[in-house]
Amino acid sequence: MTRLDAQQPAPAGPIEKTPLERYVAPARPSLVGLSRTELAQALAAVGVPAPQHKMRVQQLWHWLYMRGVTEFDAMTSVSKELRAALAARHTLARPEVVAEQVSVDGTRKWLIELPGEHAGERPHQVETVYIPDDGRGTLCVSSQVGCTLNCSFCHTGTQRLVRNLTAGEIVGQVLIARDRLGDWQAAADKGEEAAGRLVTNIVMMGMGEPLYNFEAVRDALAVVADGDGIGISRRRITLSTSGVVPNIARAGAEIGVMLAISLHAVTDALRNQLVPLNRKYPIAELMQACRDYPGLSNARRITFEYVMLKGVNDSLADARALVKLLKGIPAKINLIPFNPWPGSRYECSDWDAIEKFSEYVFNAGYSSPVRTPRGRDILAACGQLKSATEKLSARERMALRAMAMTE
Ligand code: SAH
Ligand code: SF4
Repeated sequence: MTRLDAQQPAPAGPIEKTPLERYVAPARPSLVGLSRTELAQALAAVGVPAPQHKMRVQQLWHWLYMRGVTEFDAMTSVSKELRAALAARHTLARPEVVAEQVSVDGTRKWLIELPGEHAGERPHQVETVYIPDDGRGTLCVSSQVGCTLNCSFCHTGTQRLVRNLTAGEIVGQVLIARDRLGDWQAAADKGEEAAGRLVTNIVMMGMGEPLYNFEAVRDALAVVADGDGIGISRRRITLSTSGVVPNIARAGAEIGVMLAISLHAVTDALRNQLVPLNRKYPIAELMQACRDYPGLSNARRITFEYVMLKGVNDSLADARALVKLLKGIPAKINLIPFNPWPGSRYECSDWDAIEKFSEYVFNAGYSSPVRTPRGRDILAACGQLKSATEKLSARERMALRAMAMTE
């Protein structure tokens, strides 16, 4: 392991890679993820007259996002003719789930394949994880295949190819979770459409930097938060960013969900190395963007994520500096035990160090989600989703829980 300290020069590597922008829509695109306006356009394209659009869109919305139907024929309130016309041009497909892992404690991981851009190209893979906990269920959703940023402790950042997910592929992950959990039927059985759901919270903490796929994430979350459909309120959706400062203000204005910041270091010298984007948007600018985030209060706090790296950022002096840095910002601190990966140059902090750090921030008045009862198991946590075939280890599951604790 390399000891990184403030004296060491920042790495000269690039701050970011260029994403592939070659997404080619399928011949029969899915209606999943479309906004009301886009659904109206799809209806217009099959000859539905404009005065009917509002009513027809409402019907489609209900079947798509309240009932989660996967066949046009299940849309019993829609005429046979219209169903056939829509089916000729569209599907109700979600992205393809190629593997599902279910753990004893109910955590589930779905490996999702997205078609490559060219015939013969290997499909892209992303992951979605469901974490049930104390009366709620959090879904960890991906926003990109890979990530253009190169955080030095993150496995996703080492992936060379990056493609933005479409809004449909992002909403699709939520539908997949509800499909696989039987969440549509469970709610319908209760007679109350929105009650009794298993997926109650969303965290944009899977693969990718959501604020570098702004429009798709914004449009997808608008669908997810819509009360006539999926109905997961903005207060229960958390977007995690490595600190794309200009888009934080935009997210406040256009997305309006809860914010989590991947801080991980309290000095620019160290953060430049851990999160190279810091070279573009240093800590002071990031903190100002946080202070300016709309709607902040004690009930609506920003979560600051802090990955615990042994001998790098885990001293009591760091804890003190962290508390000082966050002064005046309604904040929660989320300590994430580092999850090592083959070739990673860091180690996870010792449990003692995590405990001391956590105790300090707790005594300073911040809830600190890494809790002792979770014990040693929580070490080697996970903050990044990657591998195709690996099962989630017990330790990863515990760690994902720590990440999901954003309330
Ligand atoms: N790109 C966004 C969201 C995805 S990463 C962001 O960086 O915020 C979700 C969280 O997992 C981030 O806080 C990220 O820094 C953290 N993370 C990444 N790799 C990790 C690892 N190996 N161990 C622990 N946490 C990690
Ligand atoms: Fe990208 Fe987030 Fe990983 Fe950094 S931590 S490389 S921003 S996914």
